[in-house]
Amino acid sequence: MADAESFLKDLPKVDLHCHLLGTVRPMTFGELARREGLALPDDPERIFADINSRPPDPELYRSTRIPMAQGRSDDEPETSYSLFQASNWVREALRGPDDLTRIVYEALEDAHTLSGTRHVEFSIDVPPPRIAALGFTSMVEAYAEGIRLAERDFGITARMLAAIDRSGTGEEALEWIRTVVDHPHEYLVGIGLDNLENSGPPERFADAYRLAGEAGLRRTAHTSEHVPAAVNAVTCLDVLGCERLDHGYFVLEDDAVVARMRDEQVAFTVVSTTSRRSWRPWRRASIRAMIDAGLNVFPASDDPGMFPTTLLNEYRILHEQVGVGLEQLAAMALAGVEASWLPEEQKDVLRADLRRVELP
Ligand SMILES: [Zn+2]
Repeated sequence: MADAESFLKDLPKVDLHCHLLGTVRPMTFGELARREGLALPDDPERIFADINSRPPDPELYRSTRIPMAQGRSDDEPETSYSLFQASNWVREALRGPDDLTRIVYEALEDAHTLSGTRHVEFSIDVPPPRIAALGFTSMVEAYAEGIRLAERDFGITARMLAAIDRSGTGEEALEWIRTVVDHPHEYLVGIGLDNLENSGPPERFADAYRLAGEAGLRRTAHTSEHVPAAVNAVTCLDVLGCERLDHGYFVLEDDAVVARMRDEQVAFTVVSTTSRRSWRPWRRASIRAMIDAGLNVFPASDDPGMFPTTLLNEYRILHEQVGVGLEQLAAMALAGVEASWLPEEQKDVLRADLRRVELP
């Protein structure tokens, strides 16, 4: 597999679905959590190792087309922590602008070093509690400084998306996006929607998405990831105006939706690794079925510091476990470039580099 491995590493890849809080290295979290004296139920590094989000009510998934494991899988830790819980602890450990610059820089250093990633579009959230006094513009500027330093040192580029937490209200989302719109920044180019899908249907956030669209921000959303129905993906396109979608596995529940997604070649960022360990086989089978249905899917890392995974690992899993050939993986890398929100001239650089790639 040595040839395939170096091919995948060298492939010019973009990562369009990645949460900044989910990229934080376990050691960095440990250092910051100790500095802040956070009261945690275990060692910070142990918490990261034992992340295993419990699935929502298993009854919801009794009759999905691709069966979901109902029990626990072999690799599940005794005590486990949900991804959202861990993300919140990371939020609490962040203090000044230097922390923000640092976690962006480390995320991009890891993407470059471990995966050969060329461009990342990562989500940022509402200001962490110890950052709030900094103000929105200073927060974004601290993140942007991390991007600039990483570009200088590694040649990697990045942009930010403002993520809406769907467990909140539509009014809270609107207020957050109004803040984003009122403080434009060249590196903050779009918005997303995340957290547990069962807690917030996409239509709740129509006003926030409309405001973002009017301001020229690009739009994506997590959809059909936890809710076993295809309708949310349709709502994201038709009501929220999304230009690409994150996850989307449950579009497979509805043939008409699959046909539409195929005809329109809607871009899906898919992730083989999830913090719900028992769901990993279902994820991979779903991605296989999406590919077989002719959908436009390409891999992303999502929360690489926490699962843990890397973008390269996600390509490797598609090759070794999902049976995707190298040529098709190169086509996916190109699909990612096309779906990215980089300026055309920067896309051209990546397109040209992709044309030069030779199959082993
Ligand atoms: Zn995600």
